[in-house]
Amino acid sequence: MLLARNHEPEITCGSCGGSASKVCQTWLWERGSDAWLCEACADAHEDDCDRPTYLPKVNSPRTGICAYTGSPIDG
Ligand SMILES: [Zn+2]
Ligand SMILES: [Zn+2]
Repeated sequence: MLLARNHEPEITCGSCGGSASKVCQTWLWERGSDAWLCEACADAHEDDCDRPTYLPKVNSPRTGICAYTGSPIDG
C-alpha cells in the first residue's frame, strides 16, 4: 500500500472502495458518502441514477464543500 504524499483528502468510491474522483449530487442527498464514485463506477452509476449530476473532487480542502459533511436522510 503506497501512501499519498500530498494532503488531498482521501475519499473512497462508495461502490468499489477505490479512489473516488467525483461525487453525484443526487446520491449525496439520498445516500451520503456512497455518492462518491471512481471513474469506472461513475460510468455504471448512470444506469442506477435518475439524474446523474457530478461534481469533481475538489483538491483544496478550503474550497467550499458544503454538502460533503451533510447528514444523510435517515429514514
Ligand atoms: Zn468505484
Ligand atoms: Zn447519481
